[in-house]
Amino acid sequence: MNENPADRIQDYLVFGEFGGVNPSIEDSSTFTFLSAERMKEVFQGRAEGCYLYSRHINPTDEYLARVMALMEASECAQITASGMSAISCVLLQLCNSGDEIISSRTIYGGTYALLKNFLPKLGITTHFVDITNLAEVMAKINSKTKVIYFESISNPLLEVADIPTLSKLANQYNLKIVVDNTFSPLMLSPIKLGADVVVYSLTKFVNGSSDCIAGSICSTRDFISSMRDVGSGACMLLGPVMDPMRAASIFKNMRTLHVRMVQHSKNALYLAENFTNLGIRVFYPGLPSHPQHELIKSLLNSDYGFGGMLTIDVKDEEIANNLMVKMQEELVGYFAVSLGFYKTLFSSPGTSTSSEIPKEEQERIGLSPGLVRFSVGIDHDIERTFERIKKSMKEVGVI
Ligand code: PLP
Repeated sequence: MNENPADRIQDYLVFGEFGGVNPSIEDSSTFTFLSAERMKEVFQGRAEGCYLYSRHINPTDEYLARVMALMEASECAQITASGMSAISCVLLQLCNSGDEIISSRTIYGGTYALLKNFLPKLGITTHFVDITNLAEVMAKINSKTKVIYFESISNPLLEVADIPTLSKLANQYNLKIVVDNTFSPLMLSPIKLGADVVVYSLTKFVNGSSDCIAGSICSTRDFISSMRDVGSGACMLLGPVMDPMRAASIFKNMRTLHVRMVQHSKNALYLAENFTNLGIRVFYPGLPSHPQHELIKSLLNSDYGFGGMLTIDVKDEEIANNLMVKMQEELVGYFAVSLGFYKTLFSSPGTSTSSEIPKEEQERIGLSPGLVRFSVGIDHDIERTFERIKKSMKEVGVI
């Protein structure tokens, strides 16, 4: 298999029904059979390549799933209607009532709320840990533990997880490693680094146009088959299906992901260095001052840099809010949550994407009220953008 994930995507040629350069869209909820015997085989999971009903498998969703599997170098993939449904279905597939999860404490607020507030209703308990502290992770492992969950680059503090070391630990105790790789497509390949399951919010960098909500799960063929099982699969039974029209558009957007990621990373590094020169506290794994800078260098695929996400601390919530309003006026980008857009997006994690985390816990994990998270865009002229940010910073008193 070709070693660069972008080349694997590039070489995946699919023809449309009439020889078109884009695959035809299978706009059907249900599929016909020529014999009762064949339908029975499909229900029993014994007929590869046959389609039954689009909540089970839709061919257009399958094209997108195939590209995701190629990118991740996983055997198989499943497309879901959101990142949250990918995460919740995987965890519900792997855990039963009474089981425990060990999770990084710095994760997307929605995932935190799922683990902290929702899964306990089903008897599934989560221990939140500093994922960069192996001893802390080990201390929480017991006979009920089933999963270690984390983001490869965490939201919003951009801590980097040591996927190979955590995977070795998980193997030792027969646990599953589930990694959210939303911040680092192409840059990091968690399955190759030892993870069992990789989940994505495709809503972000992978789709790149902020026009839909989408998710995916990459893993072994056996695991994905278990999630599609008509009698016991979380994807089949909870039903987070992506519409094939949308799958076709994400599929096409993925062809430019490598170009976008290079530009996101280049621009983010430029801003990170220049913010640092202004004396601002910056969280960005591409800076030598970042605690896991050497670690991420050892894990990265070549060519895609350190990613498009960076966070700064302006120390005060009101100043952070004023800065974001000002930057929007100055056309730096949008004061909005989410990430991976062509234009820079910025939000204050404590009052938005991490607001599900209680205030005391935010303080404990270093989520200060003055944080501003940037998803740096693919701006042609990042120096011009930096000058606009600097002007905004001066006006609201950051510098
Ligand atoms: N994972 C991460 C890291 C996220 O940032 C988000 C959303 O912001 C999600 C998962 C959830 O994805 P979605 O909004 O597509 O359900």
